[in-house]
Amino acid sequence: MKTEKTKAVVIFSGGQDSTTCLYYALETYDEVEAITFAYGQKHSVEIDQSIKICEMEQVKQTIVDISFLNTLVESALTSNGDVNEINEKGLPASFVPNRNQLFITLAHAYAQKINAKVLITGVCQTDYSGYPDCRKDFVDLIQVASNIGSASNIVIETPLMYLTKAQTFEMAQDYDCIDEVIEHSHTCYNGDRTQRHDWGYGCAKCPACELRQKGYEEFISKSV
Ligand SMILES: [Zn+2]
Repeated sequence: MKTEKTKAVVIFSGGQDSTTCLYYALETYDEVEAITFAYGQKHSVEIDQSIKICEMEQVKQTIVDISFLNTLVESALTSNGDVNEINEKGLPASFVPNRNQLFITLAHAYAQKINAKVLITGVCQTDYSGYPDCRKDFVDLIQVASNIGSASNIVIETPLMYLTKAQTFEMAQDYDCIDEVIEHSHTCYNGDRTQRHDWGYGCAKCPACELRQKGYEEFISKSV
């Protein structure tokens, strides 16, 4: 019996989480494409790394420029604000309003175009950075809304939803991509690739670096 090939789209930023998701998808689905959003980040390091990883793994990547988001929202990720601060809503200053919603909406449209049945995003609510649009209830609702609104039946998978950063490293090890994750994925908000640590490149001072470092140390302490 001929079975239909399952195609998956991965929302791929080039960070640790989405890189782990990309390798997970490559192991799990017959065909994998990556979609990457350029939203006017202060630096292009993450996108450069995403391109490198897709080239390495021969994954088709579509880069979508949504830098117009910058003209509508305020975030320390896209302006000169301090990423360590908390905004007036109690959210991290690096939070970009409706960013994830937009990513999923656009990736869902692309998944329809290429007939992908699965959309994968590396969002995580465990030791998450305080972003409400990374939570399971949000993803469940946007899946329903996107499918109803387009007569589709696309599953939004979130393989990292309940994992800690240490467990995400463990997952990378299970999918045999720990070296690629450490060497090529980029997390640092400050775009620093001059300092190499055991856990990868970064300034080691921003919240993203701190989370990655802490996760790696926990992962190592458990695996020895
Ligand atoms: Zn950093």
